Amino acid sequence: MTATLLEDLGRIVGTEHVLRGRAELLPYAADANRMFRGMPLCAVCPGSADEVRAVVSACHRAGVGFVPRGAGTGLSGGATPGDGQVVISLARLRAVRSVDPVGRTAVVEPGVINAQLSRCVAPHGLYYAPDPSSQSACTIGGNVAENSGGAHCLKYGVTTNHILGLEVVLADGTLLRTGALGPRCHGYDLTGLWCGSEGTLGIVTAICVRLLRRPGAVRTALALFRCVEDAAEAVERVTAAGAIPAALEMMDRNAMTAVERGAYHVGYPDDAGAVLLMEFDGLAPGMEEQVEVSMAQCRASRVTEVRAAQREAERTLWWNSRKAAFAAMGHMARAYYVADGVIPRTRLTQVLGQVAAIGREYRLWTANVFHAGDGNLHPLIAYDPSVAGESERVLAAGSAMLGACCAAGGAVSGEHGVGLEKRDDLFLCFDEGDMAVQRGVHDLFDPRDLANPGKMYPLPGRCAEVRRAVWDPRAHVQSTAAAVSPQA
Ligand SMILES: Cc1cc2nc3c(=O)[nH]c(=O)nc-3n(C[C@H](O)[C@H](O)[C@H](O)COP(=O)(O)OP(=O)(O)OC[C@H]3O[C@@H](n4cnc5c(N)ncnc54)[C@H](O)[C@@H]3O)c2cc1C
Repeated sequence: MTATLLEDLGRIVGTEHVLRGRAELLPYAADANRMFRGMPLCAVCPGSADEVRAVVSACHRAGVGFVPRGAGTGLSGGATPGDGQVVISLARLRAVRSVDPVGRTAVVEPGVINAQLSRCVAPHGLYYAPDPSSQSACTIGGNVAENSGGAHCLKYGVTTNHILGLEVVLADGTLLRTGALGPRCHGYDLTGLWCGSEGTLGIVTAICVRLLRRPGAVRTALALFRCVEDAAEAVERVTAAGAIPAALEMMDRNAMTAVERGAYHVGYPDDAGAVLLMEFDGLAPGMEEQVEVSMAQCRASRVTEVRAAQREAERTLWWNSRKAAFAAMGHMARAYYVADGVIPRTRLTQVLGQVAAIGREYRLWTANVFHAGDGNLHPLIAYDPSVAGESERVLAAGSAMLGACCAAGGAVSGEHGVGLEKRDDLFLCFDEGDMAVQRGVHDLFDPRDLANPGKMYPLPGRCAEVRRAVWDPRAHVQSTAAAVSPQA
């Protein structure tokens, strides 16, 4: 059966686009979350939507599971294959099929890189708003599958708010067109259903995106605080004062240290405990008032220094330092793990305190770089994978952090998805009945469980066990364990 499948795949895409050797397959064994790995049967790189359809049909005939893959920048193991599955890489489908500058839409293939799309439509004065920090590498198909967010999603919304229609291949090879790419009729919002479905319903082969007009004015300000509590108070005050920043990002002391050791040197002072990066965009009239209101709220929250960027180069440096913050963790430790939870932004101080307590309790060095305006936390945990038991300790700490988020009224993923990483953690938000309904929806599209099998769904019957094991903030918040240093 396997031999027949491999022959079929070679016939469909050309044997040079079917990777089978161990060395060739290693890059496909994991996504950017290196905690999870699997060795696929092969990785197939179709060159057109028709080839994707034929590849999926061949997998269906053979009864072999397949894993859609964009750029592999996902952080929850979503594109990580199970052993013996077929990875279907969408990297060769990177055409911008059409741009409608008047209607402000574009139809793109799934392998188009996020930042490239904005560059492509820039001559029309347009851009694509969702901007994950990985935007120089991640694909629009991956963004749809993860319903990705980004720094400017505070004002503009996440991926689902910018997707108008999809062309998709279901797990049996059936082609389906939704929304603006479909019959434009009433009915269920299938486009919305596919956003965030993590490849478990099939493969997206074309995407109609909404484009926005480039804002006439942009102002960016940097605010330094002695501690994260003051910065968190400023986040609350700025939004409560009615200012609507396009972005409101925070880094703590440890993240600033990592960034300063990395490629971009902002010159964050040693005594700064947290930095806020605030950006405002829109029409020029009224912009200065918004910046002033926000800076005044920072002063009311005991800011030690706040200033607006005077030149484009300064703004670019601030943003580069923020967007490169994950990568800068490489200067602090042999490896790092990114947790991803979301909370009401009024609970930032409480949960950041709990995240620090969990780090101490599990003897792990942590840093925080996150979309503060959205309450989307990203605790970064430094670790050394070669130390026995350390990876397990990191995963347990990550789960405990999600427990703290859920206890504060939040959820287990802000934007990185569930993948392999958080399947069980879903039970912190949903019960068995909720998951059975979702599974029922899935089974309508993929009854044989061939599309990205093993992702996103917890094993049924484990809800009580998962909830019993959850980190209880009331029992641990008083943890007095000493702070931990990074290993590198
Ligand atoms: C440094 C760094 C910063 C990041 N910052 C952010 C951020 O700010 N916001 C954010 O939301 N995420 C962020 N991420 C996570 C990641 O970049 C996003 O989840 C991104 O959308 C993944 O895109 P990808 O092309 O790499 O997809 P992959 O990692 O290849 O795949 C992700 C998931 O999508 C599925 N998939 C991929 N393509 C398709 C398709 N065509 N059809 C169906 N399913 C498909 C895969 O099966 C998998 O489940 C960051 C990651 C890194 C490494």
